[in-house]
Amino acid sequence: MTIKIGIPRGLWVYDYYPLWKTFYEALGAEVILSNPTNKSILDQGVKNTVDEACLPVKIFNGHVLDLKDKVDYIFVPKIMSVYRKEYICPKFCGLPEMVKHSIPDLPPMIDTEINFNRSRKHLMRTVYEFGSYVTTNKKQIKKAYEEALQEYEKFKKQLKQGALPLDGIVKPYVITDSQEQKEIKKSGNAKRIAIMGHSYNLYDTYGSMNLVKKLQDQNIEIITAEMIDYKVINQYAETLEKKMFWSFGRKLLGTAMYLAVEKNVDGIIYLSSFGCGIDSIIEDLFERKIRKEGGIPFLLITVDEHTGEAGVNTRLEAFMDMIDWRKRDEGNLSAHG
Ligand code: SF4
Repeated sequence: MTIKIGIPRGLWVYDYYPLWKTFYEALGAEVILSNPTNKSILDQGVKNTVDEACLPVKIFNGHVLDLKDKVDYIFVPKIMSVYRKEYICPKFCGLPEMVKHSIPDLPPMIDTEINFNRSRKHLMRTVYEFGSYVTTNKKQIKKAYEEALQEYEKFKKQLKQGALPLDGIVKPYVITDSQEQKEIKKSGNAKRIAIMGHSYNLYDTYGSMNLVKKLQDQNIEIITAEMIDYKVINQYAETLEKKMFWSFGRKLLGTAMYLAVEKNVDGIIYLSSFGCGIDSIIEDLFERKIRKEGGIPFLLITVDEHTGEAGVNTRLEAFMDMIDWRKRDEGNLSAHG
């Protein structure tokens, strides 16, 4: 009988889904992704998570519940670190425990630890452990991992070329521009807006209140951190006064510094979720870099489970109007005030 592995559509899924899907399918398992976030998933998540948790963790728990009775295993790895000498948010590190203690009667969990601060040998042991839920054949696990890495590299390349990992993270994982959008981009008349924030905030259609689609419908060219070379982001992040050891923070701040220097966007929208400890520091540093060093219009949107979409729409409209005025009238203003 085929083993069914459930992957909750939350948190790291927008960054790593192609990798894990390919890995488990290559081993012969069936991978089941929870449904796109909707009101019922959000409500269930809120009901089954401690109040203090951030919105993405609540949504994640809603997705675990969506899979609960459909799969043999639920995939909730314990992610400690994905880059050497860096760490991920503490909520990722304790995620399996948080889920187990919030939701009773779950199927067994694949909760292997991922920690890139350990040796390469340890990394391969980790891969074997992930594979052992399906097979004990190490050769087969190694081959599946290599295949998964190739698929992951292809996915990253697509993101860099401008694709977005929206809710449709079933093959081909990403959406690309329509013909009309391509033409507007080519004409150079489109507004270019950078959207920043954690991938699970930006690309969860329901949780983000469809931010990406709202911008795309206005034929706005979207820039994301994934489209910028990670080496370049890292170079900028290296110039920070103090080493940023949170991977999320490092990526966002490095991007802020890059945008402040390049000034190649008309505005920046930072989407954050209420209750995020990391964002409470990063968004402030980000805004300072952008406003003081770049002079680029900046909009911070913080959402939680009670945020109304109408309010977000009004703020977006006002922001876009301001950018239009600025583009149109800036040259007419006297430099002397
Ligand atoms: S980084 Fe922030 S939003 Fe993401 S899981 Fe941690 S606390 Fe939540």
